[in-house]
Amino acid sequence: MTGTSGDPAGGALAEATPPADSGPTEADWAAAVAAVRALPPDGRVLLICHVNPDGDALGSMLGFGLGLRRLGVRQMQATFPGPPEVPESFRELPGLDLLVPATEAYADPELVICFDAASESRLGELADRLATAGGALVLDHHASNTRFGRVNLVDRHAAATSVVAEELLARLGVDLDAAIAECLYVALSTDTGSFRFEATTPAVHQLAARLLATGIRPGDISRRIFDTRPFGAVRLFGEVLGRARLEPAAAAGHGLVWTYATQDDLARHDQRPYVLEALIDSVRCTAEADVSCVVKQTATGDWAVSMRSKGAVDVSRVAVALGGGGHRFAAGFTGRGTVDEVVDRIRAELGGALTGPVRR
Ligand code: 5GP
Ligand code: MN
Repeated sequence: MTGTSGDPAGGALAEATPPADSGPTEADWAAAVAAVRALPPDGRVLLICHVNPDGDALGSMLGFGLGLRRLGVRQMQATFPGPPEVPESFRELPGLDLLVPATEAYADPELVICFDAASESRLGELADRLATAGGALVLDHHASNTRFGRVNLVDRHAAATSVVAEELLARLGVDLDAAIAECLYVALSTDTGSFRFEATTPAVHQLAARLLATGIRPGDISRRIFDTRPFGAVRLFGEVLGRARLEPAAAAGHGLVWTYATQDDLARHDQRPYVLEALIDSVRCTAEADVSCVVKQTATGDWAVSMRSKGAVDVSRVAVALGGGGHRFAAGFTGRGTVDEVVDRIRAELGGALTGPVRR
């Protein structure tokens, strides 16, 4: 995968913009390597991942940060927009010492590097760094990525942003160690649903093998990130799943299953919002529905919406139509109004997002 090293001119940018479907070109990789190599000795680097970071966002950012540290980068911060709260399951990730609250992030770093964010809006209040930084590098794998960096390494066929991060580390000459590998493994296993999703290609398993060869412990890591939650969250899930609705006629007969959770639900069970991220996995297993959806209240009249599809519907089209983004089979957006209004808008978009013929 890394056999094609950058062009000898190191940083010569291609004139032509590649088609959106293709991954990074050799010129893109070379420009990214050059941006890192051009850092002055005390150059400040700011790493940013998307709001409400998941395993891929944090893992690719921290793994890459640890790699930069190995290269000798000393002045480096990692951050994400919003409250500086790391979900419990990621609190043992190596490299957490790089994290600073968004309010303390460098105002004008020499280089900003964004991870797993499909658009500037996913960077929240940190989006202004794209303009104030000396250079802006984007590492991502969302098909909907708007290429908002000065150098964009966007590979929609990559299973996780960590796939892109690992390739760039390799091109920078950084060898994997266990700390870097653990971060990248968390990222890879999160975005492949523990190597269950369609994106789990031979290359994904080859990357997993390289990561495991550093001696990291997949059983411990998986238990921590997938199979551990407080008892209060178990009870909360029971309640929220109990109010799930199945609509077999939705999505032109492919079916929709959905539920919602309010801030009051969280308060009653004394739980933090991030525990709700795992809920979608308990909803999407519904046999009778192609599309599943969890609507999570983030403020009065504000909802973070998670959608999943088994293939009949391209949920990224639904999400983009409603102001969000994501992938074909996993996407999301911010909804406003009441739960019913939000779900009405989703229902209305489903028919137009079918990937194949309408089921009769
Ligand atoms: P999740 O449901 O796990 O939060 O997100 C699923 C996918 O949709 C992820 O790839 C995530 O980046 C994307 N996504 C979720 N919410 C939003 C959003 O509000 N805006 C955009 N652009 N993408 C989102
Ligand atoms: Mn991702």
